[in-house]
Amino acid sequence: MKVLVLGGGPAGMTAALAAARAGAEVLLLEQNERIGKKLLLTGNGKCNYTNLELDVARYDTDSPDFVRELIKRYPPKTIIRFLEELGVPPLSRHGGWIYPHAEQAAAVLNALRAALEREKVAVRTGIRILGIQREKKGGFRIRTEEKPLYADRVMLALGGSALAKTGSDGSGFRYAEELGLKLEAPRPALCPLRSTERENPFFRTAQGVRVPAELTLLVDNAVRGKESGELQLTKEGFSGIAVFQLSLVAGRALAEKRKTELCINFLADFTADTDFFARRLSMPFATDLEAVGNGLVPKNLWGALLRRAALTPQQAVKRGDWELAKKLSEALTASRFTLQGLGSLEKAQVSAGGIALSELSGQSLSFRRVPGLYAAGEILNVTGPCGGYNLHWCFASGLSAGQSAASDEVRI
Ligand SMILES: Cc1cc2nc3c(=O)[nH]c(=O)nc-3n(C[C@H](O)[C@H](O)[C@H](O)COP(=O)(O)OP(=O)(O)OC[C@H]3O[C@@H](n4cnc5c(N)ncnc54)[C@H](O)[C@@H]3O)c2cc1C
Repeated sequence: MKVLVLGGGPAGMTAALAAARAGAEVLLLEQNERIGKKLLLTGNGKCNYTNLELDVARYDTDSPDFVRELIKRYPPKTIIRFLEELGVPPLSRHGGWIYPHAEQAAAVLNALRAALEREKVAVRTGIRILGIQREKKGGFRIRTEEKPLYADRVMLALGGSALAKTGSDGSGFRYAEELGLKLEAPRPALCPLRSTERENPFFRTAQGVRVPAELTLLVDNAVRGKESGELQLTKEGFSGIAVFQLSLVAGRALAEKRKTELCINFLADFTADTDFFARRLSMPFATDLEAVGNGLVPKNLWGALLRRAALTPQQAVKRGDWELAKKLSEALTASRFTLQGLGSLEKAQVSAGGIALSELSGQSLSFRRVPGLYAAGEILNVTGPCGGYNLHWCFASGLSAGQSAASDEVRI
């Protein structure tokens, strides 16, 4: 059996390995000069590849049942064992986020590359795929910048469309569409969030501020997520890991044109209620509002929050001004911002959306309507939050798809 794997990311490498181990002759094609370019960037170069507390319900997909079933077959401990057997022991951080013990993504890539070599997978780099066509007599013709290639079995592992400079530029989605497969429109995920334009004055003043904060995502006024961590204010909205975590759910809500808001507590580490501000307003240092905020939060943030609450730093304050104390507490601990969109794909870690799982036949990761075609990784409509969810999906789907491609009975 010959299998042609398109794309040398974690999903393609794993699928190639699994297919070769199941007895197939495998050729892997990659346009970059080296495989695994994006893998090297993962987890800040440390590669968070799975999660002991993986909650399958957090994947955004058109078929939660399919994902649940696949991850039941390939749970975190299986992925940890897969890499351990390649010589990479795990390290657990932040309560179950799993990294290679050396905390170097290069260790994972080196192990995968060595395994591909041991399994005699042929790897051709520096070759761009330009299209995939079905042949009348069965099988596929792969258009490249060089001579076309022919194969009976093809694995689509061309990734998504986030951070195109790593190679995944969304061309895989185009080829899938040309083959007649249904796609959910790709959108940025694990990315910054943009606020409405009417908040521009706020961000003009507050941009560049980084503060610990508690964030609550509201969709149609219902709480849909809570995260805390460092919040970064940008020219047009919000960034930082806590924001990235909420962006998956926010992105879906925005795509469905629902009212999506971020409620922010800028003073997450203590209780800054009306009482607190009433006391602060009575202190000798509290000559004006600028002095009231001094030392509490960064000056730019304070100024921007005051303006948003129709207050000014020069405003004099008086003892026992309960109304003002209430206003300040609300501005600092429960500021609501309406969201308008997501950061660009260039600032996103992944793209959500992709080839609909409803196109797949059973758990083999092959396509019902295109016999001989398989897929794995981010090109499929499965996206998880930060914490190793996306690489877990790449490894799990790669292992399963590679094995199927090498052993499935295909009816053409
Ligand atoms: C900065 C950053 C940090 C991340 N950190 C984490 C993390 O810690 N944990 C986690 O789980 N996930 C993380 N991710 C997400 C993770 O990297 C991806 O989900 C994963 O790389 C997807 O793997 P893939 O094999 O499906 O696709 P990719 O890794 O994108 O690989 C696809 C390959 O196909 C090649 N290709 C595409 N089109 C063509 C073509 N036309 N011709 C030839 N070759 C082509 C590309 O060059 C690429 O090498 C992070 C992503 C980024 C950007």
